Amino acid sequence: MAENHEIYDVTIIGGGPIGLFTAFYCGMRELKTKVIEFLPRLGGKVSLFFPEKIIRDIGGIPGIAGKQLIEQLKEQAATFDPDIVLNQRVAGFERLSDGTIVLTGSKGEKHYTRTVILACGMGTLEVNEFDSEDATRYAGKNLHYGVEKLDAFKGKRVVISGGGDTAVDWANELEPIAASVTVVHRREEFGGMESSVTKMKRSAVRVLTPYRLEQLRGDEERIQSVTVCHTVSGQREDLEVDELIINHGFKIDLGPMKEWGLEIEEGRVKADRHMRTNLPGVFVAGDAAFYESKLRLIAGGFTEGPTAVNSAKAYVDPKAENMAMYSTHHKKLVHK
Ligand SMILES: Cc1cc2nc3c(=O)[nH]c(=O)nc-3n(C[C@H](O)[C@H](O)[C@H](O)COP(=O)(O)OP(=O)(O)OC[C@H]3O[C@@H](n4cnc5c(N)ncnc54)[C@H](O)[C@@H]3O)c2cc1C
Repeated sequence: MAENHEIYDVTIIGGGPIGLFTAFYCGMRELKTKVIEFLPRLGGKVSLFFPEKIIRDIGGIPGIAGKQLIEQLKEQAATFDPDIVLNQRVAGFERLSDGTIVLTGSKGEKHYTRTVILACGMGTLEVNEFDSEDATRYAGKNLHYGVEKLDAFKGKRVVISGGGDTAVDWANELEPIAASVTVVHRREEFGGMESSVTKMKRSAVRVLTPYRLEQLRGDEERIQSVTVCHTVSGQREDLEVDELIINHGFKIDLGPMKEWGLEIEEGRVKADRHMRTNLPGVFVAGDAAFYESKLRLIAGGFTEGPTAVNSAKAYVDPKAENMAMYSTHHKKLVHK
């Protein structure tokens, strides 16, 4: 592999909403920036879990679909052309004698940088897949681990396996457009907001509890029916299905980053009020950050990102101003 020894001012780990806005603000501070994202696409939890949901708690935006917010953040981040690397999990951290930080991807790729901003949420997210060979065969056909486009389920017989807030939300959103929706959950109680659970139970959604998904049946291409099993009586039922959605949670893990010497609390990285971590030149923003009164909201991360960038700027250039010029006056933006 040809090595690229170019040194960046800032390398942001994580291309979720906060990583993207942080990349924009790095441009405001004229910092040469790279974003590294483990998943094949940008947007973090918003793209993974709620692209179609309307977000209503960002100041000045009464309501915006998750995917639209990510599109706008991508456009905003692109203002200053940061380099973006997808499909790479940052694993290693080392500091050279001149202070340069070398990050290593899990396949050995090297990234040279003066500072690092952790915008990695609580780590890499991997869905818990249904453990069967058949599940692997049907994944991406009519077995789904997420709902990207509601329209794809229009007029279909949908079975959802899972009982967390996301499963409940999908059931409620699909019920008006699908031919039928059946939710199969191994416990009597559901996660999620009480009002959403009540709405689901009062709707035409068929709720099967305590049942677990046992077997998938179909041809080479598609699942045609599933067998569900009552967890107490063992009674089985076959359900015909056009689309199966599995929402059995996900694994989230900081992985090798836990070995870097960062102070970690409740799975997140401790930050001071400048968003500095205990490692010199390493800053944190968004869900990755831990401090008293931290709000795990997108709006909160939109302040932490610029704070982390200003700290990174001071680290690479101690004489620099302590914040960027307002965007309304910024010399690179006024003529846009
Ligand atoms: C169902 C649900 C609904 C929500 N609704 C709202 C809402 O209405 N309003 C609101 O404000 N917030 C909401 N949130 C919270 C919001 O999603 C988070 O606060 C937000 O996504 C945090 O953004 P982030 O960029 O800090 O982290 P994330 O979105 O978690 O993104 C982190 C990114 O870093 C990547 N990454 C992690 N480790 C590595 C590594 N080692 N190398 C490379 N990449 C890595 C991950 O793959 C991920 O893409 C909701 C969350 C959920 C789950």
